[in-house]
Amino acid sequence: MLIVQKYGGTSVGTLERISEVAKRVERAKKSGHSLVIVVSAMSGETNKLIEFAKYFTNTPPRREMDLLLSSGERVTSSLLSIALSAKGIDSVALTGRQAGIYTDNIHTGARIDKIDSAQITQYIKQGKVVVIAGFQGITNNGEVSTLGRGGSDLSAVAIAGSIKADLCEIYTDVDGVYTTDPRIERNAKKINKISYDEMLELASLGAKVLQSRSVELAKKLNVALVTRSSFNENEGTLITKEESIMEKALVSGIALDKNQARVTLRGVKDEPGIAAKIFNKLAKENINVDMIIQNIGLDGVTNLGFTVPKDEIEEAKRVMSKLNASELLEFDPKVVKVSVVGLGMKSHSGVASKAFDTLAKENINIQMISTSEIKVSMVIDKKYGELAVRALHEAYHLDK
Ligand code: ADP
Ligand code: ASP
Ligand code: MG
Repeated sequence: MLIVQKYGGTSVGTLERISEVAKRVERAKKSGHSLVIVVSAMSGETNKLIEFAKYFTNTPPRREMDLLLSSGERVTSSLLSIALSAKGIDSVALTGRQAGIYTDNIHTGARIDKIDSAQITQYIKQGKVVVIAGFQGITNNGEVSTLGRGGSDLSAVAIAGSIKADLCEIYTDVDGVYTTDPRIERNAKKINKISYDEMLELASLGAKVLQSRSVELAKKLNVALVTRSSFNENEGTLITKEESIMEKALVSGIALDKNQARVTLRGVKDEPGIAAKIFNKLAKENINVDMIIQNIGLDGVTNLGFTVPKDEIEEAKRVMSKLNASELLEFDPKVVKVSVVGLGMKSHSGVASKAFDTLAKENINIQMISTSEIKVSMVIDKKYGELAVRALHEAYHLDK
């Protein structure tokens, strides 16, 4: 088989861990598979580099950030290739550029435009294990770009799609996808199979076990995707088509997104074009707006609320202040978003009201609500985030 294996930060977090990964790769190679390995930076490394930059300014130029952040994955890819060659395994390490990963020019949040996999394929034909630095690519102007936090998952899926791999395995520090973050709820259960759509919701709503864009792409390219642990041999979770899941759970999981901040504008003029003006401006600066809420106006003015990723709040403040608005602006970084996700919601009512009931019983105030066919999301005070996850997990009997 042709297999893409991706190893996350904790899986390559120390030299001993890289050595363990080399052993796993050796086993797969010896059983006759062709292998492309995608690696993340050592755990904590990307955060450390971001902190380094923040020593100088809260809004470092995004181009320079890309050059800085891409270095973490270069370290692990070259070290893993060195570890493999020390074992007598023929291997080659490639940067994003060398692997032919072309992106748009949105620095720190680039999208992959195309992959020119000729080089990768050539090395595979020569029997080499190809080790690729995840999370990075190259723009048309030859600039280094990165794919957003957790982006090595996306690198792996995109490469798997482009070389038509039989399987894409995402190795991490938990056994697979759970009903909620097992670090928050000890009774969380591992899910054996989950649909692309449910996984996509869970991932976009904070379950960082897979990066959301990687799931989106896996669905689009029909990549067979498995998440599993690099610390044991347990079977992982298969992310697959809805049709191949016999028993559709009413609720599959609960997600918590801590990277949220609420922006409120009070006294906005209730007239055509106001929302367009604000959100166009934010979109132009690549700030991801979510959960927009506007009230029915009174006396010609209204309130407008929305959330942005917390790590984009400084940029959001900068953009909003340039709007010369007379409105009252409020930024609240002390919020989280908790969500309930499940395919069964399509055909059953009462899921949302149960979520509201559950939070009410815990005396947790809901600040914002948004729903889709298969999810209910609520913005609440940060200090109740984990409590809400545990209460909802129990309310839908996910521990059973
Ligand atoms: P990696 O460094 O391997 O990419 P991440 O830290 O990005 O790993 O993702 C794995 C982590 O995701 C787990 O350690 C776990 O705490 C967290 N997580 C959040 N939600 C879930 C979930 N529903 N199932 C499994 N893990 C989850
Ligand atoms: N190292 C990057 C990050 O921490 C990419 C990744 O780990 O997937 O976000
Ligand atoms: Mg990750």
